[in-house]
Amino acid sequence: MTLALIGFDADDTLWHHEAWYRLTQERFSELLADHAEPQDLHARLLAAERRNLGHYGYGVKGFMLSMIETAVEVTEGRVPGRVIGEIIATGRAMLDHPIDLLPHAREAVTTLATRHRVVLITKGELLDQERKLAQSGLGDLFHGVEIVSEKTPATYAAIFARHGADPASALMAGNSVKSDVLPVLETGGWGVHVPHGLTWDLDRADAPVGHPRYRVIPSLGALPGLVGALEGHQPHLASAPGPTTISGPSDKVEVSSKSP
Ligand SMILES: [Mg+2]
Repeated sequence: MTLALIGFDADDTLWHHEAWYRLTQERFSELLADHAEPQDLHARLLAAERRNLGHYGYGVKGFMLSMIETAVEVTEGRVPGRVIGEIIATGRAMLDHPIDLLPHAREAVTTLATRHRVVLITKGELLDQERKLAQSGLGDLFHGVEIVSEKTPATYAAIFARHGADPASALMAGNSVKSDVLPVLETGGWGVHVPHGLTWDLDRADAPVGHPRYRVIPSLGALPGLVGALEGHQPHLASAPGPTTISGPSDKVEVSSKSP
């Protein structure tokens, strides 16, 4: 078998992402500490995000609006303008956060790009994802960049077709079973889970344990070997996943004092 297309997810696959959301949520909890317990606030914020996804899509701006909506809700309409201003400021800081590549991200893309068509496939806001890709320094390595509003089987099928790849010869690697693995398996492609310690609550799903085209690797460092093994070039240790997934890389992100 030859794999014609290797897809990479971006957030929390190539670079840290969720950690910035967690930091912003901590700040959000502080701002509204007089009105709600952190756990209750988190639950309400998550509910707002879920309600709003279909309207705002994925990304920081929708998250900011959901925080504002939640602040209005928990204060019964009395949230001070100063707090709204702070929420907007923390959201804007997220749009400027530095890009910290995850271990092996650059080597994996560089290595695979020599023999395969490598495509970045990410959901989120166009401007923000473009900014992060530019700052990552990985942009030139990809043969294609696909920024989509949702990762469905139809989305993947269209992307694979656009790049001339039969689904059976396409592989997608990412940190989300829900977005990067399950819909790709449904198209007939290979889904490789690269767990990250932090995963957004709305981006979780049960692993398709036992699926013949599902694999789990501990980090992107194992991806070139896995691709080689699937193509029959070399043996590879990573394999068919068992009931427990390999634990992810460290979820720690270096946070400087000027971070949100
Ligand atoms: Mg991701």
